[in-house]
Amino acid sequence: MSADDVSKYMDKLKISDSDFYRKGTRASKMGLPNSTTDKSQRATQDQVLDPRTRMILFRMLNKGVFDDIKGCISTGKEANVYRALIEEPEQQLAVKVYKTAILAFKDRERYVVGEHRFRFGYSKSNPRKMVKLWAEKETRNLKRIFKTDIPVPKPLHLNKHVLVMEFLGTSEGYPSPKLKDAIIDPQKYPQLYNQLLAYMRIMYQECRLVHSDLSEYNILYHEEKLWIIDVSQSVEHDHPMSLEFLRMDIKNVNDYFRKRDVEVFGERQIFMFITE
Ligand code: ADP
Ligand code: MN
Repeated sequence: MSADDVSKYMDKLKISDSDFYRKGTRASKMGLPNSTTDKSQRATQDQVLDPRTRMILFRMLNKGVFDDIKGCISTGKEANVYRALIEEPEQQLAVKVYKTAILAFKDRERYVVGEHRFRFGYSKSNPRKMVKLWAEKETRNLKRIFKTDIPVPKPLHLNKHVLVMEFLGTSEGYPSPKLKDAIIDPQKYPQLYNQLLAYMRIMYQECRLVHSDLSEYNILYHEEKLWIIDVSQSVEHDHPMSLEFLRMDIKNVNDYFRKRDVEVFGERQIFMFITE
């Protein structure tokens, strides 16, 4: 679906936004991780890898998953992301290492409700098992999204809580910016907005997923396109909270583009567009 198609489709769905939002559904009130925390501020913390993680990375090196591991791209509450290299033919990779610290995942239970397989494997008393499940879930979701036209990094390799994927950045090794930091010609915003709405629709209709933490923090601007990342907490669309999560995703997207003077569609209208 092209950006133009989105406009046409949307015209048919003009509905008032009143009552669309239930009161108090913002992420902070729901005890969800706040997606607007600047993770780069914490860039110097928690960089030490535990022995098990080092062993996994070491085995990956030995097996030739990559030949060298370079610097840290990002350190967050739940994961660190590193850049790795394959020498022949030259290729860059992103290595996402989930943190096994119990605290890192205490906010996440909400996303697990109603996910069948996941619910049973989920064990609060075993953080290693838990992060392994989050990594598996992100891999599964990335694979599902990668099959569509939505730009996401290709998942390449998974071992326990370490996920290796395609690197989004320059050939010199600079990672592509998050949407919140990207410098974009203002004229391009309306088209990017429509394109993002189309991605959300495809994700819902074809992948049967709701991102559930979608915002300018989990979208990268790469090769003049928006790339969706960080889908470990994305839920199946039959998850009991999926429609609430979808409303929040829509609101985040609209808030971002409204601030950039895009004439945004009504939130209810977008909701219909994505789900109908
Ligand atoms: P979290 O938010 O849980 O720490 P993310 O998946 O959002 O984990 O990744 C954190 C940051 O790492 C991203 O905002 C982005 O800057 C960088 N990053 C993640 N995946 C890639 C990738 N494939 N290529 C380049 N940079 C990436
Ligand atoms: Mn993120």
